[in-house]
Amino acid sequence: MFGQKIIDMRFDVVTLFPDLIKDALDHGITGRAMKENQLTLKTWNPRDFTNNKTGRVDDKPYGGGPGMVMESEPLIKAIKKAKQSSNSSHVVYLSPQGQKFNQKRAEEFLQHRKIILLSGRYEGIDERVIESEVDEICSVGDFVVSGGEIPALLVIDAVCRLEKGVLGDPDSASQDSFSDGLLEFPQYTRPDSNEFGEVPDVLLGGNHSEIAKWRLKESLRRTFKLRPDLLKKKVLTNQEKVLISEIKSEENS
Ligand code: SAM
Repeated sequence: MFGQKIIDMRFDVVTLFPDLIKDALDHGITGRAMKENQLTLKTWNPRDFTNNKTGRVDDKPYGGGPGMVMESEPLIKAIKKAKQSSNSSHVVYLSPQGQKFNQKRAEEFLQHRKIILLSGRYEGIDERVIESEVDEICSVGDFVVSGGEIPALLVIDAVCRLEKGVLGDPDSASQDSFSDGLLEFPQYTRPDSNEFGEVPDVLLGGNHSEIAKWRLKESLRRTFKLRPDLLKKKVLTNQEKVLISEIKSEENS
Protein backbone atom coordinates (compact mmCIF):
# COMPACT_ATOMS: atom_id res chain seq x y z
CA MET A 1 0.00 0.00 0.00
CA PHE A 2 1.18 3.57 -0.75
CA GLY A 3 3.09 5.11 2.16
CA GLN A 4 3.35 1.86 4.12
CA LYS A 5 6.62 1.46 6.02
CA ILE A 6 8.89 -1.58 5.81
CA ILE A 7 9.02 -3.73 8.97
CA ASP A 8 12.67 -4.01 9.81
CA MET A 9 13.38 -2.90 13.39
CA ARG A 10 12.71 -5.63 15.89
CA PHE A 11 13.35 -6.23 19.57
CA ASP A 12 12.88 -9.62 21.24
CA VAL A 13 12.93 -9.30 25.01
CA VAL A 14 13.60 -12.29 27.25
CA THR A 15 11.85 -11.39 30.48
CA LEU A 16 9.93 -12.77 33.43
CA PHE A 17 7.60 -9.76 33.13
CA PRO A 18 6.45 -9.54 29.50
CA ASP A 19 3.50 -7.27 30.36
CA LEU A 20 5.83 -4.73 31.92
CA ILE A 21 7.60 -4.41 28.57
CA LYS A 22 4.52 -4.52 26.35
CA ASP A 23 2.40 -2.16 28.45
CA ALA A 24 5.15 0.42 28.80
CA LEU A 25 5.93 0.55 25.08
CA ASP A 26 2.33 0.68 24.00
CA HIS A 27 2.19 4.48 24.33
CA GLY A 28 3.47 7.59 22.57
CA ILE A 29 6.26 7.30 20.02
CA THR A 30 6.94 3.58 20.54
CA GLY A 31 3.22 2.71 20.57
CA ARG A 32 2.74 4.53 17.27
CA ALA A 33 5.86 2.90 15.78
CA MET A 34 4.40 -0.54 16.58
CA LYS A 35 1.01 0.36 15.13
CA GLU A 36 2.67 1.61 11.95
CA ASN A 37 4.84 -1.52 11.67
CA GLN A 38 8.08 0.42 12.12
CA LEU A 39 8.85 -1.52 15.28
CA THR A 40 8.18 -5.17 16.04
CA LEU A 41 8.27 -6.26 19.67
CA LYS A 42 8.20 -9.85 20.92
CA THR A 43 8.66 -11.13 24.44
CA TRP A 44 9.87 -14.54 25.60
CA ASN A 45 9.21 -15.70 29.14
CA PRO A 46 11.81 -18.15 30.51
CA ARG A 47 9.02 -19.70 32.61
CA ASP A 48 7.63 -21.15 29.38
CA PHE A 49 10.90 -23.04 28.91
CA THR A 50 11.20 -24.87 32.23
CA ASN A 51 10.80 -28.59 32.85
CA ASN A 52 9.20 -28.17 36.28
CA LYS A 53 5.44 -27.78 36.79
CA THR A 54 5.66 -24.58 38.84
CA GLY A 55 7.64 -22.63 36.22
CA ARG A 56 10.50 -22.02 38.67
CA VAL A 57 13.46 -20.38 36.94
CA ASP A 58 15.78 -19.56 39.84
CA ASP A 59 17.86 -21.44 42.36
CA LYS A 60 20.35 -20.82 45.17
CA PRO A 61 23.84 -19.68 44.16
CA TYR A 62 26.61 -22.28 44.35
CA GLY A 63 29.07 -21.30 47.06
CA GLY A 64 26.30 -19.76 49.19
CA GLY A 65 25.34 -16.15 49.66
CA PRO A 66 22.14 -14.14 49.55
CA GLY A 67 19.41 -14.29 46.92
CA MET A 68 18.70 -16.50 43.96
CA VAL A 69 20.23 -16.85 40.52
CA MET A 70 18.35 -17.36 37.24
CA GLU A 71 19.02 -20.84 35.87
CA SER A 72 20.86 -21.28 32.59
CA GLU A 73 18.58 -23.77 30.87
CA PRO A 74 15.28 -21.84 30.60
CA LEU A 75 17.14 -18.67 29.67
CA ILE A 76 19.19 -20.35 26.94
CA LYS A 77 16.12 -22.09 25.54
CA ALA A 78 14.20 -18.80 25.48
CA ILE A 79 17.10 -17.02 23.75
CA LYS A 80 17.40 -19.79 21.14
CA LYS A 81 13.67 -19.56 20.44
CA ALA A 82 13.93 -15.77 20.06
CA LYS A 83 16.88 -16.22 17.67
CA GLN A 84 14.92 -18.70 15.60
CA SER A 85 11.79 -16.56 15.47
CA SER A 86 13.48 -13.23 14.71
CA ASN A 87 16.26 -14.55 12.52
CA SER A 88 18.52 -12.41 14.64
CA SER A 89 21.60 -13.45 16.53
CA HIS A 90 22.68 -10.34 18.42
CA VAL A 91 22.07 -10.82 22.13
CA VAL A 92 22.50 -7.96 24.61
CA TYR A 93 22.37 -8.69 28.33
CA LEU A 94 21.23 -5.73 30.45
CA SER A 95 23.47 -5.65 33.49
CA PRO A 96 25.07 -3.01 35.73
CA GLN A 97 28.38 -4.72 34.89
CA GLY A 98 28.26 -3.75 31.19
CA GLN A 99 29.61 -0.83 29.18
CA LYS A 100 27.39 2.18 29.76
CA PHE A 101 24.58 2.89 27.31
CA ASN A 102 24.65 6.28 25.59
CA GLN A 103 23.47 7.98 22.40
CA LYS A 104 26.37 6.56 20.38
CA ARG A 105 25.52 3.07 21.50
CA ALA A 106 21.84 3.66 20.64
CA GLU A 107 22.96 4.53 17.09
CA GLU A 108 25.08 1.36 16.94
CA PHE A 109 22.16 -0.76 18.16
CA LEU A 110 19.96 0.73 15.44
CA GLN A 111 22.41 -0.59 12.84
CA HIS A 112 21.78 -4.15 14.05
CA ARG A 113 18.07 -3.76 13.14
CA LYS A 114 17.15 -6.84 15.24
CA ILE A 115 18.31 -7.28 18.82
CA ILE A 116 17.51 -9.79 21.53
CA LEU A 117 17.53 -8.12 24.95
CA LEU A 118 18.01 -10.29 27.99
CA SER A 119 16.59 -8.98 31.27
CA GLY A 120 17.85 -10.50 34.49
CA ARG A 121 16.14 -10.60 37.89
CA TYR A 122 17.12 -11.71 41.42
CA GLU A 123 20.91 -11.69 41.93
CA GLY A 124 21.42 -12.03 38.18
CA ILE A 125 21.86 -14.94 35.77
CA ASP A 126 23.97 -18.09 35.62
CA GLU A 127 27.31 -17.15 34.05
CA ARG A 128 27.01 -19.93 31.45
CA VAL A 129 24.22 -17.97 29.71
CA ILE A 130 26.63 -15.07 29.18
CA GLU A 131 29.40 -17.38 28.02
CA SER A 132 27.29 -19.22 25.49
CA GLU A 133 24.70 -16.73 24.22
CA VAL A 134 25.54 -13.10 24.99
CA ASP A 135 27.35 -10.82 22.53
CA GLU A 136 27.35 -7.60 24.54
CA ILE A 137 26.62 -6.50 28.09
CA CYS A 138 24.95 -3.14 28.47
CA SER A 139 24.43 -1.03 31.59
CA VAL A 140 22.09 1.96 31.90
CA GLY A 141 24.20 3.48 34.68
CA ASP A 142 26.33 2.87 37.74
CA PHE A 143 23.46 1.84 39.99
CA VAL A 144 21.54 -1.39 40.53
CA VAL A 145 17.82 -1.79 39.79
CA SER A 146 15.76 -4.89 40.54
CA GLY A 147 15.48 -6.17 37.00
CA GLY A 148 16.56 -5.68 33.40
CA GLU A 149 13.09 -4.64 32.19
CA ILE A 150 13.36 -0.91 32.86
CA PRO A 151 16.87 -0.84 31.35
CA ALA A 152 15.51 -2.75 28.29
CA LEU A 153 12.70 -0.20 27.93
CA LEU A 154 15.21 2.66 28.00
CA VAL A 155 17.27 1.00 25.28
CA ILE A 156 14.27 0.24 23.04
CA ASP A 157 12.87 3.76 23.35
CA ALA A 158 16.24 5.44 22.70
CA VAL A 159 16.92 3.25 19.63
CA CYS A 160 13.38 3.46 18.25
CA ARG A 161 13.30 7.27 18.10
CA LEU A 162 16.44 7.22 15.92
CA GLU A 163 14.71 5.15 13.23
CA LYS A 164 13.85 7.24 10.18
CA GLY A 165 10.14 8.10 10.11
CA VAL A 166 9.42 7.23 13.75
CA LEU A 167 9.47 10.84 14.98
CA GLY A 168 6.95 13.13 13.29
CA ASP A 169 9.70 15.63 12.40
CA PRO A 170 12.88 13.95 11.07
CA ASP A 171 15.00 16.80 12.52
CA SER A 172 13.87 16.15 16.12
CA ALA A 173 16.35 13.36 16.87
CA SER A 174 19.27 15.19 15.24
CA GLN A 175 18.58 18.23 17.46
CA ASP A 176 18.30 16.19 20.64
CA SER A 177 20.93 16.43 23.36
CA PHE A 178 24.07 14.31 22.73
CA SER A 179 23.45 13.85 18.99
CA ASP A 180 26.19 16.39 18.24
CA GLY A 181 28.03 16.05 21.55
CA LEU A 182 26.16 18.98 23.15
CA LEU A 183 23.06 19.45 25.27
CA GLU A 184 20.05 20.86 23.46
CA PHE A 185 19.38 24.62 23.60
CA PRO A 186 16.52 26.02 25.78
CA GLN A 187 13.04 25.70 24.23
CA TYR A 188 10.02 28.00 24.65
CA THR A 189 6.40 27.94 23.48
CA ARG A 190 3.47 30.35 23.65
CA PRO A 191 2.77 32.77 25.26
CA ASP A 192 5.83 34.96 24.53
CA SER A 193 5.40 36.73 27.85
CA ASN A 194 3.77 35.85 31.15
CA GLU A 195 4.38 36.19 34.90
CA PHE A 196 7.16 33.55 34.67
CA GLY A 197 9.24 35.50 32.17
CA GLU A 198 9.86 36.53 28.57
CA VAL A 199 10.84 34.50 25.52
CA PRO A 200 14.19 35.81 24.16
CA ASP A 201 13.56 38.41 21.40
CA VAL A 202 15.73 36.58 18.84
CA LEU A 203 13.29 33.63 18.78
CA LEU A 204 10.38 35.93 17.94
CA GLY A 205 12.15 37.81 15.13
CA GLY A 206 12.04 35.11 12.43
CA ASN A 207 15.70 35.60 11.38
CA HIS A 208 16.74 31.97 10.87
CA SER A 209 20.49 32.49 10.88
CA GLU A 210 20.30 34.60 14.07
CA ILE A 211 18.10 31.91 15.67
CA ALA A 212 20.56 29.15 14.65
CA LYS A 213 23.49 31.17 16.11
CA TRP A 214 21.60 31.85 19.36
CA ARG A 215 20.68 28.17 19.66
CA LEU A 216 24.24 27.03 19.08
CA LYS A 217 25.53 29.50 21.69
CA GLU A 218 22.91 28.51 24.28
CA SER A 219 23.58 24.84 23.56
CA LEU A 220 27.27 25.48 24.24
CA ARG A 221 26.46 27.55 27.35
CA ARG A 222 24.22 24.83 28.76
CA THR A 223 26.82 22.14 28.10
CA PHE A 224 29.57 24.33 29.60
CA LYS A 225 27.52 24.86 32.77
CA LEU A 226 25.86 21.45 33.20
CA ARG A 227 28.10 18.91 31.43
CA PRO A 228 31.62 20.34 30.99
CA ASP A 229 32.87 16.75 30.53
CA LEU A 230 31.08 16.65 27.14
CA LEU A 231 32.81 19.81 25.97
CA LYS A 232 36.23 18.33 26.78
CA LYS A 233 35.51 15.44 24.38
CA LYS A 234 34.13 17.57 21.56
CA VAL A 235 36.24 18.92 18.68
CA LEU A 236 35.04 22.52 18.44
CA THR A 237 34.68 24.46 15.19
CA ASN A 238 36.20 27.96 14.99
CA GLN A 239 32.73 29.48 15.45
CA GLU A 240 32.14 27.32 18.53
CA LYS A 241 35.52 28.34 19.99
CA VAL A 242 34.61 32.03 19.61
CA LEU A 243 31.20 31.45 21.19
CA ILE A 244 32.73 29.53 24.11
CA SER A 245 35.11 32.37 24.90
CA GLU A 246 32.18 34.83 24.79
CA ILE A 247 30.24 32.54 27.14
CA LYS A 248 33.18 32.28 29.55
CA SER A 249 33.54 36.04 29.81
CA GLU A 250 29.75 36.51 30.12
CA GLU A 251 29.54 33.91 32.87
CA ASN A 252 32.50 35.43 34.77
CA SER A 253 31.26 39.02 34.59
N1 SAM B 1 23.87 -8.90 41.56
C1 SAM B 1 23.97 -8.16 40.33
C2 SAM B 1 25.26 -7.35 40.34
O1 SAM B 1 25.70 -6.95 41.42
O2 SAM B 1 25.80 -7.07 39.28
C3 SAM B 1 22.79 -7.23 40.16
C4 SAM B 1 21.51 -7.98 39.90
S1 SAM B 1 20.12 -6.91 39.67
C5 SAM B 1 19.40 -6.89 41.25
C6 SAM B 1 19.02 -7.90 38.75
C7 SAM B 1 19.02 -7.61 37.26
O3 SAM B 1 18.70 -6.25 37.04
C8 SAM B 1 20.33 -7.83 36.52
O4 SAM B 1 20.50 -9.17 36.16
C9 SAM B 1 20.17 -6.94 35.31
O5 SAM B 1 19.49 -7.59 34.26
C10 SAM B 1 19.29 -5.81 35.83
N2 SAM B 1 20.02 -4.56 36.13
C11 SAM B 1 20.23 -4.03 37.35
N3 SAM B 1 20.89 -2.86 37.28
C12 SAM B 1 21.10 -2.63 35.98
C13 SAM B 1 21.75 -1.59 35.26
N4 SAM B 1 22.33 -0.56 35.87
N5 SAM B 1 21.80 -1.67 33.90
C14 SAM B 1 21.23 -2.70 33.26
N6 SAM B 1 20.61 -3.73 33.89
C15 SAM B 1 20.54 -3.70 35.22
